[in-house]
This record gives sequence, C-alpha cells and structure tokens, in this order.
Amino acid sequence: MKLFLADWIHLDRAFVPDAAVLVDDDGRIVATGPREAVRARPDALAAEVVDLEGKALLPGTISAHSHSFQVLLRGTSDHPASFRDWVKQHLYPLVERLDHESLEAGALLCFAQMARAGVTSVGEFHYLQNAPDDYAPDADRLAEIVIGAARRVGIRIAFLRAIYDVQERFGQARMVEPPAQSAEHIRALAARYRDDPFVHVMPAPHSLHGATREAIELGAGLARELGTRWHIHLAEQRGDVGYAERFHQATPLRVLDRWGLVDERLVAVHGIWLDAGEQKLLAERKAALVSNPSTNQILGDGIAPLSELVALGVPVALGTDLNQSPSVFQEMRQAEMLQRVHHLRMGMIPTAGGGAPDPQRLFDMGTRHGATVLDLAAGVLEPGRFFDAVALDLSDPSLLPGSLLGGTAILSAVTCCVVGKSAVRDTFVGGRPVIRDGKLVNLTWLEVVERLKKAKALPRLEGVPGAR
Ligand SMILES: [Zn+2]
Repeated sequence: MKLFLADWIHLDRAFVPDAAVLVDDDGRIVATGPREAVRARPDALAAEVVDLEGKALLPGTISAHSHSFQVLLRGTSDHPASFRDWVKQHLYPLVERLDHESLEAGALLCFAQMARAGVTSVGEFHYLQNAPDDYAPDADRLAEIVIGAARRVGIRIAFLRAIYDVQERFGQARMVEPPAQSAEHIRALAARYRDDPFVHVMPAPHSLHGATREAIELGAGLARELGTRWHIHLAEQRGDVGYAERFHQATPLRVLDRWGLVDERLVAVHGIWLDAGEQKLLAERKAALVSNPSTNQILGDGIAPLSELVALGVPVALGTDLNQSPSVFQEMRQAEMLQRVHHLRMGMIPTAGGGAPDPQRLFDMGTRHGATVLDLAAGVLEPGRFFDAVALDLSDPSLLPGSLLGGTAILSAVTCCVVGKSAVRDTFVGGRPVIRDGKLVNLTWLEVVERLKKAKALPRLEGVPGAR
C-alpha cells in the first residue's frame, strides 16, 4: 500500500486541499478523501507515505491518438509546401526507411517526452506491419518494439492495431496486409496481453481511404468479439468528404452508418468535417471522438466542431497525433483556443452545454474521456481505477500565481495556460513512478539521445556543412 499526499488533489471534479489517495500493490486506488480520514483506515496504517508537498496531484493525462514514429520528422518536415508534399516528401520516405532500431528510438523519444509532459497513457495507432526493403510480414516484431518502448518508459499503452488493406501509393507497402491476417494478429496480440494491465489491444481499421468495407466491418466485429471499442480516422481533411461521396456515395459518418457500424463502440478520430446531422448521429448512438488540435493546425486540416459535440454530450478525447510537441495539457488549451478563433468568442468549451464556465469540461477531454475511448480504468482519481497521476509544482512560473490560490484557479491554469514542462515533477502509472523530480525513472535521457543518434532512418540534410 502507498499513501499519496499533496497540497491539492483533483478528486472527481475539483481540487481538494489536504486530501489523500490510498493505492494498493496492484496500483489501484483503494480510497480517496480527507487526509485524516484516509490515514485512519486500518489498511492505511502500514502504507508507505509519498508526500508531494508543494504540489498538486491530478489524474495523468491521456493522449488518445498517437503515431509515435512521426517524432522522427521533427526538424526536417515542419515547413512543407503542402499536406501532399508532407506525405510524399517526408512521411512516406520515412516509413520506407524505418528499421527496427529507428522505430524503437522514435517510440522511446515520444513516450519519454510524453511522460515528462504528464501523459500516463497513450493510444498508439500503429499501422506498420511489413518489413522495410522486401515488405515481408513483420507485424509481430514491429508491434512488440512499440509496445516494448512504452513499457520501458513505464506508460500505459492502448495499442490501436491498424487494419489497412488499400494500397494506392508506393509508401503504403509497409502498411497493407490481407484483413484476415490482420484479424489473426489482433486476436493473438489481445490474447498475449489479456492479463497485462499496462497493455490493451484494440482494432483500428485505418480510414475510409486506407481500408475496404470488408476491413472496416472486420475491425468493428473484432471490437465486439474482444469487448473493446474500435478507432478509425474519419473526416480529417475536407477532401475526405469528397472521397467518401465519390467512392461510397455518402458523407464519412453516414457511410459507416449505412454499414450499421455507428454505435457506442465507435471512436471516430478527427471528425473535423462532420456536418450537423452527423454530429447529432454521433451523439444519438453514443459514439465518441478523438480530436488532435495541434496536429490539425500543423497539417492545415481545419477546426473540429468540438463545442458543438461537447454540447451534444459526445465524449471528446484528445490526441497528440504526430507528436510534434506531445503534451495533452497543450491539447486542452489548443482545443479551446481554436474554438475561440473560429467562433470569435471566449469560453467556448467551458460553457458548451450551458451553465457557468467550467474548465472541467476541457480537463475531462484530456483525462476521463481519454480513458473512456481507450477502455482504460484510469483518467479519474477514484477507487477502483488505476493510480495514474501527475504531480505539478505549485511554484512553477507557468502556473503562478493562480496555483497559490488553489482550487478552481489550478484547474483554470492547467487547462488554459501553457503548463511548463518544468511544472511536471512526478508522473505515476499504476502507482509506479515513471518521472520523479522531473527525471525519467526507468531510463536516462542520454540513452534516448544516443538511440536517436544511431537511428539510420533519420533524414539526412543535403548541402549543409556539418550536417549528418
Ligand atoms: Zn492518425
């Protein structure tokens, strides 16, 4: 047993002073509440006390959509002329070159950086299944490298295993496989990790342009069979609507609806170009959405109708997607700022659905709803869920002076100010420390850097003196 104490603890929907969280040896929360009451419990008497003095303790954030290897694009592909150029000149060439060591180096960088930013769970949407060079099936090894990197860092991973069976371009050769083969692999992976609380396997047919109807139906069927939700990229770019209309004679969500696939197991990723009828449909069927505000800006995708969806009661989670700067605190802020710029009004998501402005609505997107869409017992500090938590330094410049006031001022600052990396002092996953005093516990940053230096897949700069 461990007893966590902090100046302020986010319990249910508010920061509470002088509270405590009791965590069992499996990393599950046993009790929360006023410090003295929790301390007086018979099962707390012999607990190891972890006193996070001067800090606020809150649920760890959840990046519900990530492609970890895309961190390797940083520094060489930030300013392409267009999305098309980004894909053709940067993304696909990287995919072509990506060997095992480079994949692992990228995943370690991504997950370690996430942990340092207060992310405790990632939904890793993984679509590399074949070896470089000869495109021989290599799905098992590639999956284990990515899952292994998350375990090495210590964060929880929902492995969103793609089903991808459409190849239109050369760069997709590493992604495609027959759906039956994907299904076999997903079943095997799910069985392998059934008893592992740190790894959860979910089917993820890639998109309407990357997967056939057969593959998408297979993914949804596997989700029913395995008792999970399933994820699919949907209506990310305006062109995705035209594609769906051209090849399936309907808008993206209506295509899935025609196939009978819109229900509470569906998690649509992006949904930027869902029309008003589709937004209502998502709500009526109790499906969920993952939004990736930073990536949507970087790629020029557009602005997702988040205040509308939140008002309709759709659980909206957040993802860091291409991971240019993977911080879910940042995504909370970006989600709200895009709504403000789009609607020319302040207080968009905090007032969505009516009532007084409540920043908890933004906070839920990066915590509670992330856990929902990834089927994880996390995202809230309450009994029965895993103790996945982050401790923020109340004296950090990025949170001062609101952090001194406590309560709602902390929640306000965390969801709207840029939470400095220096503010994240400790990160715990299932009760185990992953970051302590701002440093990785399970590996060193030096190792991450050394792995990257050896990553052969990193792009080379031509004609720059001193560049590798
Ligand atoms: Zn994606």
